[in-house]
Amino acid sequence: MDLKRTKAYYAALEPDELCPCARCQNYMRQIRSAYPQVAKALEALGISVEKPFEAMPLAPNGDGTIFYLGPQYLVLGSREGFQATQVSGVSIDFADSHPPVPLEEEHFVIELSLIRLPWREESPSVP
Ligand SMILES: [Zn+2]
Repeated sequence: MDLKRTKAYYAALEPDELCPCARCQNYMRQIRSAYPQVAKALEALGISVEKPFEAMPLAPNGDGTIFYLGPQYLVLGSREGFQATQVSGVSIDFADSHPPVPLEEEHFVIELSLIRLPWREESPSVP
């Protein structure tokens, strides 16, 4: 793992490069407050929890919550040094499969499972 390059990658990643759909936006707004220990564990790897590579949302549940099957994050550098772990009932592990990554340099992808968040669709902003 390359902590320095991973941190730099997330610092340079602009919010408008992330998925604009309502389910992913819900994830970005709520993940840190709902899972502060997971946010901390990812920070130790250089990752910003609000900037997933893929959030993997399911359809919202009828009870005002929504599941995210396996939110994925990029980590720069080699897999060496990364250890799968469990934090607050969430597994943090290598992703078995993931969409193509638009990165030339060495990297790997990790996955959180399972995430459940409140579902609050933002009302469209009034211009
Ligand atoms: Zn999305």
